[in-house]
Amino acid sequence: MYKQYNEFLVQLESLREIFLSSDELLDDIKTLLKDHNQTYILEAIEKLEKKNHVKVYFASENVIFKILKLIGYKLSLSKPNIAGFYDPSTNTINILIDRYYVKDKSIYELEEHDFITLKDTFVHELVHYVAANNSLKFKAAFSNYWQKFYNTFADIIDFQRRYLHKQIDFISLFNMEVTKNYTITKLINAYFRVTPKNEDKQINPLVNTLYLALKHIGETNALLGIQPIIAETYMEAFNIKNFKLWYMFYQELYAPSEVICILSENDKFQLNILRKCNALI
Ligand SMILES: [Zn+2]
Repeated sequence: MYKQYNEFLVQLESLREIFLSSDELLDDIKTLLKDHNQTYILEAIEKLEKKNHVKVYFASENVIFKILKLIGYKLSLSKPNIAGFYDPSTNTINILIDRYYVKDKSIYELEEHDFITLKDTFVHELVHYVAANNSLKFKAAFSNYWQKFYNTFADIIDFQRRYLHKQIDFISLFNMEVTKNYTITKLINAYFRVTPKNEDKQINPLVNTLYLALKHIGETNALLGIQPIIAETYMEAFNIKNFKLWYMFYQELYAPSEVICILSENDKFQLNILRKCNALI
């Protein structure tokens, strides 16, 4: 949400001093991607590099964790060695790598799962970048995924569609996302046909959870209840098994580009999404 996002930028600014930008590291990563035949990611990075829109940083584990917390990371099942975010204020993709971890190993000796995280992080942030920079074509390219996602989500939350619109207005949500023009009322209107009232005894508890989550977006406790439903939505809408629940941030509620980002990290969808985004840089 907007207010939360401004806080994010302020806090990010205070952390930025302790990042150590490294062009050499980016070159090493490009070699690594080339060795793994990741042609499309490599191509995308080279295009971004020409515009100076991609940065790789060494950072301490502590800073990485702080960044993840800023963007909504709640569960700390594993210590992250790699993290990324798209920063609209500088229009850059930023990738952070734990400097101690890399120093010990050299980037060429990354464990398989860390390489996958690195690759997926690039793709994820690339999707946010393209959504922000080429929003009209992005919308045209990915509306069919949104249709599936938000329809399934509505079915799970409110099967009888008493409260939710027949179709959640994901185009309005996306327009709000790219113009950063959110109000709680606009957000709620994109979802609900009828505003649920507490005195309505028939109210479906899931509808109520969604309503509260939208009303208190940015507040962790209100949003936690919605996370498992978002995970269920991905699994059902896209027939995904073994969904990585730990990386759920609920951004899908107000930022539809996140749906495409999450899908882009899945083997079934990555290449297709990457190709489309690559063409839109
Ligand atoms: Zn994201």
